Amino acid sequence: MRTRKAVALISGGLDSLLAARLIQQQGIQVEGINFFTGFCVEGHTHAIRNRDRSRVKRNNALWVAEQLGIKLHIIDIVDEYKDVVINPKHGYGANLNPCLDCKIFMVRKAHEWIQERDFDFIITGEVIGQRPKSQRKRCMPVVARESGADDLLLRPLCALNLPATRPEREGWVERAELRDFGGRSRKPQMALAREFGFEDYAQPAGGCCFLTDQSYSVKLQDLWDNRGSREYELDDIMLLKVGRHIRPSAAFKLIIAREEGETNFLSGYRHQFQTIKTVSHPGPLALVEGAQLDAAQIQLACAITARFCKGRDAESVELRFSDREQVAHSIHVKPLAADEIKQDWIIV
Ligand code: SF4
Repeated sequence: MRTRKAVALISGGLDSLLAARLIQQQGIQVEGINFFTGFCVEGHTHAIRNRDRSRVKRNNALWVAEQLGIKLHIIDIVDEYKDVVINPKHGYGANLNPCLDCKIFMVRKAHEWIQERDFDFIITGEVIGQRPKSQRKRCMPVVARESGADDLLLRPLCALNLPATRPEREGWVERAELRDFGGRSRKPQMALAREFGFEDYAQPAGGCCFLTDQSYSVKLQDLWDNRGSREYELDDIMLLKVGRHIRPSAAFKLIIAREEGETNFLSGYRHQFQTIKTVSHPGPLALVEGAQLDAAQIQLACAITARFCKGRDAESVELRFSDREQVAHSIHVKPLAADEIKQDWIIV
């Protein structure tokens, strides 16, 4: 009998690591797929911010693949994924997370992938009853059906709570070796990790993507509201992950770095935006999103930015405002007092 082949959806978290290992140890050849949507948490803000310096900088999906000793295919789905985020048929979760549609989309892509490469089935690390919404029991058959994968979709960590799939019925995998995990407790996964000898795995705090994050979702909604259309480009959604976002008027928004790492990151965008940088005092770089500012708007934008520099209590701060043509202007302002920054300007 030929060796059966499965593809595992690898997020970089513990669940997909364990699911893949459970199948791998049954003699199945496993390869991994990691989808890049642009909203991924891993390897972005953690890599930028100084306060996260103590965290290991690594791509957890690649790290998981290395632990498993499998090939990993990282697939860019940024453009195709937009429709999932903008028009989710099954709606959003608590924030702008279209989890059920997202899962259906990813499993559909994996199903197309296995058909093209003569693989036999698909594995995910889903566990019934765990966040997000797509992992509720009644959603499991919806993902299988609407993705087109049907019973070629195997969830090894909770398979014993679900009807047998084709890999189990055909004897490609031994059903008794699979698990019956359910609910929010992570203890069964941690115990299984110990059993497999995995110690240093990613502990995702609050999900694998920014769409489950409330403040991120508020910023994305603000972007759509101000554009008058629910569209985005990759740069837009990357910039929503970084800095303080302050919108003093419908005409413009400031993205103000919160620390040196963010200033360095934002400076990579300085040729695409109007920018503000403090000169007389150490302070952040700010990007200005919007049309060319008039004189009053420049004064206001600089006074807000000065509020976040070391000269916030000074009578006057000098800043450099660079316009759309990258022509620099020296601006002197008194920083806004904390109570002059209106609460409804602050997007997060
Ligand atoms: S958390 Fe993000 S990546 Fe995960 S299923 Fe939901 S929308 Fe998709």
